[in-house]
Amino acid sequence: MASSASCIFCKIIKGDIPSFKLYESARVYAFMDIQPLSRGHALVIPKFHGAKLTDIPDEDLTEILPVAKKIAQATGAKDFNILQNNGRIAHQVVDHVHFHMIPKPNEEEGMS
Ligand code: 5GP
Ligand code: ZN
Repeated sequence: MASSASCIFCKIIKGDIPSFKLYESARVYAFMDIQPLSRGHALVIPKFHGAKLTDIPDEDLTEILPVAKKIAQATGAKDFNILQNNGRIAHQVVDHVHFHMIPKPNEEEGMS
């Protein structure tokens, strides 16, 4: 499915819900997470709507990691996690594929 009317991330892509946009191309959208686990926590998503990684065509996924890499470089994060949850048991809450890019500050830096 290219887009879902009830999906919160599809609404963000369309601009119907505001987001802090970091990057956009024909296939990919990146924005700040609304509840960041650390300073610079971003989400990189395909514009193609699908709940799980296995629902997304390869051509819609190929740009994702290079964008996550650019965001990691832009934050200056030396240490970071890329996280991608699939399904409720795996802690997925929003059913539109997304890659978390989560900088890991050292103890002194914290969220500031
Ligand atoms: P999940 O647990 O599904 O892997 O993560 C979903 C992520 O989406 C969470 O980190 C949550 O904070 C983020 N999120 C949920 N709704 C919104 C929203 O409306 N705007 C933004 N920017 N992030 C959202
Ligand atoms: Zn969607």
